[in-house]
Amino acid sequence: MPHVITQSCCSDASCVYACPVNCIHPTPDEPDFHTAEMLYIDPVECVDCGACVTACPVDAIKHDGSLEPTERVFLELNADFYKEPRPRALLAPVVPPLQVRAPGAVSVAIVGSGPAAMYAADEVLTIPAARVRMYERLPQPGGLARFGVAPDHRRTRAVSRQFDTITADPRLELVTGVEIGTDITHQQLLREHDAVIYAVGASTDRPLEVPGADLPGVSSATRFVAWYNGHPDFTDATFDLSQPRAIVIGNGNVALDVARILTTDPERLAGTDIAPHALKALRQSKIEEVVVVGRRGLAQSAFTVPELVGLTSMPDVDVVVSTEHLASLPETDPRAHILRDLPRRPGNRRIVLEYLQSPTAIARTAAGLEVEFARNELVAAADGTTKVKSTGETHSITAGLVLTSIGYRGRPVADLPFDDALGTVPNDQGRVDGVAATYVTGWIKRGPTGFIGTNKSCAQETVRALVADYNAGLLA
Ligand code: NAP
Repeated sequence: MPHVITQSCCSDASCVYACPVNCIHPTPDEPDFHTAEMLYIDPVECVDCGACVTACPVDAIKHDGSLEPTERVFLELNADFYKEPRPRALLAPVVPPLQVRAPGAVSVAIVGSGPAAMYAADEVLTIPAARVRMYERLPQPGGLARFGVAPDHRRTRAVSRQFDTITADPRLELVTGVEIGTDITHQQLLREHDAVIYAVGASTDRPLEVPGADLPGVSSATRFVAWYNGHPDFTDATFDLSQPRAIVIGNGNVALDVARILTTDPERLAGTDIAPHALKALRQSKIEEVVVVGRRGLAQSAFTVPELVGLTSMPDVDVVVSTEHLASLPETDPRAHILRDLPRRPGNRRIVLEYLQSPTAIARTAAGLEVEFARNELVAAADGTTKVKSTGETHSITAGLVLTSIGYRGRPVADLPFDDALGTVPNDQGRVDGVAATYVTGWIKRGPTGFIGTNKSCAQETVRALVADYNAGLLA
């Protein structure tokens, strides 16, 4: 019987290198690695040795005999990935070790302490005697691993154990409560180190540009996430949970996270890392229904299949999708299988997945916040993507709380160039354009996409560029 990867896959590919028969894909060198929603085990090739279970940092790999009923869909998802034969080597090609001309001399400052920073530090510390000084603005390290992962995603949060091992390395010095650009300048960092890596993430939200988006009661999902995770900048934030309905605009994984937290029985959150102030507020919440609204169709939903499985597996929350939207999915689409025949259980809270609607205005009325939506139809764009066009028809939904969940956005970094359209620092494989000895990794390098583990290969690319420059004498 094979092993199976389940929804808390972090995609860092540790399992890939542990597997003796190369049956876990995509591997980091394969073209679909950066677009895959998770990694998958080939049930035919798996020799059931369990090496991947030990390697997985988030306990996402299970023996198929120990899957919960709600996880059995992952048997199919893992097997489906191998329907088309994949050419593959006997073993996954291992990333060659870094070769440094004078190993003892490398000293690197890393700004930030989230997953991108941790994987970058891990990579630098593979160089014998290299030293890392990691700077974090907040009193605690962890970035989005601590303040972004939903508290009920316990297995994903367990990745922090791996990060604790990295920060415990005596060659890494963690400096908290220090902001680069305010307390220390970029030039000071460069004077004290051979190189600086910025791993500062995408620390704000993409704004929704419609009239009324700045009204009290309208907030962003990123703020709500930071609040329930106890981020020190957001402990005083307030959210109106006193009305029966909340609206979430956008349907990525963050939208599903906030919809789930708003509808989960607070007693199921009680034993998690949720901030006490958020648990207290959620215990008093009157929310019965969360409407998650996508501007395109069900087939273009931004959430991933593993997260949809998690959403539809909740015993006390019903997920509702209209038959019209369901009919738009091909029978072979795993989402059709997951969303078909969902139970409607009296007394349960509801998450309604709505599609083909763009918000056009938000107004405060006596009944609450009224969001006007324009109905859309899909159009095929010249570049092959699916876009929308308004049908001219509008309608409104009223709610007590409106959360915009339309993506994160990077902020400019002092003394570095900034691409305002992308919200990233312009770079070539991590080398910051026009700024010597300065590198970026993670979301500030490539934009806010991917999973925690995606940052590992991103950091490897950046540190490889740094080491190549060091070896070429460019960092002196
Ligand atoms: P996202 O996946 O990029 O989704 C953004 C959503 O906002 C999409 O539905 C998008 O629609 C919509 N949108 C963008 N602009 C809009 C506008 N002007 N009006 C209406 N809708 C708009 O962003 P995210 O949910 O913040 O997630 C960020 C990254 O973190 C993703 O890679 C995600 O997978 C990852 N993440 C992963 C997990 C997990 O693995 N559990 C949890 C949280 C986040 P279109 O698709 O039409 O553009």
